Amino acid sequence: MSESRPVPESVDGILIGGGHNSLVTAAYLGKAGVRTLVLESSPEIGGGVTTAEVTLPLFLHNLHAFFVRWTPDYRIWKDLDLDKYGLRSVHPEVQNGVPFDDDALVTYRDLGPSLDAIRRLSPADAETYSRLHEEFSEIVDRLEGPLRFGNPLAPDELEDRLSRSAIGRRYLSLKQQSALDVVRDAFESEPLRALIAFNVSVRGYLPNIDVPGTGYIVTLALPNSHDGRIIAGGSYQAARALAAVVYENGGRVVTGAEVASIDVSNGRATGVTLSDGRTVRANRFVASSVPAPMTMLEMVGRRHLDESLADDLAGYAWNPEALFGVHYALSRRPRFTAEKTVPDLPRALNLAVGYESSDDIVRDMEAIRAKQLSPIGALHGSFPTVNDPTQAPPGFHTSFGWHFVPSSPVTGYASWDQAATDERSRAITDAYSRYAPDFEDCVIAMEAHTPADTQALVPSMRYGDRHHGSYHPDNWETFRPHPALAGYRTPIDGLYLCGASQHPGGSFTGGPGYNAAGDILSDLGDSPWWGPPDPREVLEDLE
Ligand SMILES: Cc1cc2nc3c(=O)[nH]c(=O)nc-3n(C[C@H](O)[C@H](O)[C@H](O)COP(=O)(O)OP(=O)(O)OC[C@H]3O[C@@H](n4cnc5c(N)ncnc54)[C@H](O)[C@@H]3O)c2cc1C
Repeated sequence: MSESRPVPESVDGILIGGGHNSLVTAAYLGKAGVRTLVLESSPEIGGGVTTAEVTLPLFLHNLHAFFVRWTPDYRIWKDLDLDKYGLRSVHPEVQNGVPFDDDALVTYRDLGPSLDAIRRLSPADAETYSRLHEEFSEIVDRLEGPLRFGNPLAPDELEDRLSRSAIGRRYLSLKQQSALDVVRDAFESEPLRALIAFNVSVRGYLPNIDVPGTGYIVTLALPNSHDGRIIAGGSYQAARALAAVVYENGGRVVTGAEVASIDVSNGRATGVTLSDGRTVRANRFVASSVPAPMTMLEMVGRRHLDESLADDLAGYAWNPEALFGVHYALSRRPRFTAEKTVPDLPRALNLAVGYESSDDIVRDMEAIRAKQLSPIGALHGSFPTVNDPTQAPPGFHTSFGWHFVPSSPVTGYASWDQAATDERSRAITDAYSRYAPDFEDCVIAMEAHTPADTQALVPSMRYGDRHHGSYHPDNWETFRPHPALAGYRTPIDGLYLCGASQHPGGSFTGGPGYNAAGDILSDLGDSPWWGPPDPREVLEDLE
């Protein structure tokens, strides 16, 4: 059994959690000669990067993260030479699809055919899209992307430095708006507005899409929506490749090892105690990828914390939205009505089904705020096997439909009883069937996945919160997850945070793990071998 798996008595550094961010931290440190031990409570590594045969044998379902965004330039992949471990990504030609009436909008990996598709809806929007794609790509490459792979700067300093360059001032002006305003001001075609607003929402911004201060996410989401990839053979192959780097560099990964507490002596983290009572000593550091409020309040304990920090963390802003999903095993790929007009639609990596206009996104946002289920069950869907046939037996397919729902702090996820689960599953199947009438005929098995299931499988995603905290501007940059914990160091010496509750937040990017590795190694007296970007230099280069 997992509890009996041996753990060493002492190591250089302990990583709590075996999700991708911890594995990234351990891999970078391992290559610097630091011996780490990754402790994962579940029987499997990967956290939100998992793949499982939950419907039928041989049908692979990515239970959580399904598409990858190693923003901005796949630096982690290259630094760790993940190709060497057999990791392969698939970059689908057709990236996004929005069915509406008997028609559809699809956008592609390449800009040219994407503009042709947009032009059919609005020639003016095609012009604007082309201009913004170029402008936002430059913002991502020179500014937004590199700033995610460095420690966050304080708001005043960031604003001051951004205001010294034309590109910085433009970014600031977009940032200060709401994401919804940026989208609606730029474009007139409703399916296009819906597509971009959907791509913003799917990143965790739905509850805040009309909040001033979220506009920056459009600069990332628009160009990035041409660069979605999946991992061949399922997302968990990425976790495995990262773990292979850890092993190869002298580290170890142990599953079934739940950390109950972090041992603190004289203000310094000295090791951990597992829930079965065993202890492991950390000679140099402890880093946790479990969200900051859980790590600090439940593993460290209030007695070691400043009272006001502990009180603030007790009221931490979790994301009020979570995902309810259904995974399907399909005998064949269903046919969309709109395929007659746009044959490429079902090949899209990401499908926004039921989001025909930006009003549909706003309706879902309002439902979340009202703590209600959205009335029509629009969804994020895909047929991953169209782009990676290895994820099902030959000729068969998989699909999923994720639906935004209010998360448990506001609704109480205990309400996901069988009746509620069946009702939402039905709504998702119905949403698909409205656009692909033979959808249900193709289903040979299905499995619902509630926010409660997410929390049960990945306890760090409390309440099903996939990004370990809200994306409200109050919980962003140096406010994330608290001004006293911005970055990766904590008030406890030798204790670091390296998961999605830290800048630049959640998703399968590896950003928090990468940045934490840099701080840890610097504090150990070594320089990062990988040359991370310095945010101040990034901003100076813009001037
Ligand atoms: C339904 C869903 C769909 C998603 N889709 C996408 C997507 O398509 N693309 C994308 O980029 N992102 C997606 N995400 C988000 C993404 O999965 C997460 O943001 C990301 O995986 C967070 O990584 P992490 O390593 O920081 O944390 P986690 O993945 O949460 O890893 C933390 C690990 O810590 C372990 N742990 C918890 N408590 C303890 C303990 N006490 N002791 C030891 N170990 C512990 C957990 O089991 C977990 O393995 C999705 C998430 C969900 C839920």
